[in-house]
Amino acid sequence: MPPSDPQTADCIFCAIVHSDAPATFLHQDELVVAIMDIRPVQPGHLLVVPRAHAKLIPELDGAILARLWSVATDLNQALRASPLPVEAVSVYVADGDAAGQEVAHVHIHLIPRRAHDGFGFRFPPGYGTQPGRAALEAIADQIRRGSSQLSAPDTRGD
Ligand SMILES: [Zn+2]
Repeated sequence: MPPSDPQTADCIFCAIVHSDAPATFLHQDELVVAIMDIRPVQPGHLLVVPRAHAKLIPELDGAILARLWSVATDLNQALRASPLPVEAVSVYVADGDAAGQEVAHVHIHLIPRRAHDGFGFRFPPGYGTQPGRAALEAIADQIRRGSSQLSAPDTRGD
């Protein structure tokens, strides 16, 4: 989409993929780019970003999704093989505002991790209590209902 498109005019990742904003690139192909995060949680924190503007993962088609995860996996290996202090890698997507998404354009975070590095998830009160099989089945049934509500055929080939 051109930068004047109202959906993408204020999108920093669209500006980067259109070379209208600077970035440090690790990968570029026809579907996906990877760039260094400018506010890294840890040194080596990078982002894998589709060229196409979409806010949420379900808005992306299967070819783009496959390429995103493939490039993310290659860079996961590159981080581990690099001289950076990488004991593990957090792979994270905030898919929507309530999940903490700050840029409304899909991006996978790869965050190098070390034991006791100070980063992590904050769990809600009550986390750790096992709900029991009946409760898990009841919640799974809610998700199955969601699946049955999807009108578009699944084109992701899984
Ligand atoms: Zn965008």
